[in-house]
Amino acid sequence: MSIILWNNQLINEEEINISKEDRGYQFGDGIYEVIRVYDGSMYTAKEHIDRLYESADKIRLIIPHTKDVFHKMMYDLIEANEVVTGQVYVQVTRGVSARQHQFPSPSVECVITAYTKEVARPVTQMANGVSAKTVEDVRWLRCDIKSLNLLGNVLAKQEAHDEGCFEAVLHRGDVITEGSSSNMYGVRGGVLYTHPATNYILNGITRRVILECCEEIGLPVVEEAMSLTNLYDHEEFFMSSTTAEILPIIMIDRKPIGTGLPGSWTTKLQAAFEAKINKAVLA
Ligand SMILES: *Cc1c(COP(=O)(O)O)cnc(C)c1O
Repeated sequence: MSIILWNNQLINEEEINISKEDRGYQFGDGIYEVIRVYDGSMYTAKEHIDRLYESADKIRLIIPHTKDVFHKMMYDLIEANEVVTGQVYVQVTRGVSARQHQFPSPSVECVITAYTKEVARPVTQMANGVSAKTVEDVRWLRCDIKSLNLLGNVLAKQEAHDEGCFEAVLHRGDVITEGSSSNMYGVRGGVLYTHPATNYILNGITRRVILECCEEIGLPVVEEAMSLTNLYDHEEFFMSSTTAEILPIIMIDRKPIGTGLPGSWTTKLQAAFEAKINKAVLA
């Protein structure tokens, strides 16, 4: 049986009582984060909690705890569940009130729900790579918010899965934005390209760590969107997220990228990324 966080208490999961009028349930009116746990410790917890509060600000939602208290709540949850290698999922909704689109009265408090899960690192996919499918990005124009509204992302991921692909490469016309729940990168002529952190993508915490790794290994970065037209000019392609880490993308729309094997820069980045995890966990 697992222990979950509900508002400000740790309870057994069957004790949770979500209202039919929770605005997360009715409108997707809320935000979330997924934080990695390695060897019992949260990785880049500060960055994730900062981003959660930024997402909250962007939708004018107030989280009635300091970030330090919030961090402690996540920490206690992980301890209670004795997570070793896994993740914390946490969401915050705009609370419970009679259904109406405009915000409820300011006295209505947000609803916080968090739980943990053991999740292995995807070592096979990290080594072998995955395939992807291009899908038109029809999401709204505030993709910088980690919102609970994920219909565009869900439909894109399903379209990829229907074709036996692991992830969708989203594009607005000719412009490649990101994945359905990941960021996208290509290497061309020894330079790494990735979409700049604008309103068209979610600025991944993994993305930020990867950009640091690029500097460490001497891979120049250009934060400039890749174009669909030049897709196959890339020697390497990969995706990143908190749970997936760095996964080589070896095929897009059934055509190989480069040699059709994980690229050497991608492999170097995976090693640099892993070194950072080990350093953080040992610290
Ligand atoms: C969460 C997410 C990512 C990856 O962010 P990380 O912080 O690296 O996990 C990328 N794109 C979308 C749409 C996401 O929701």
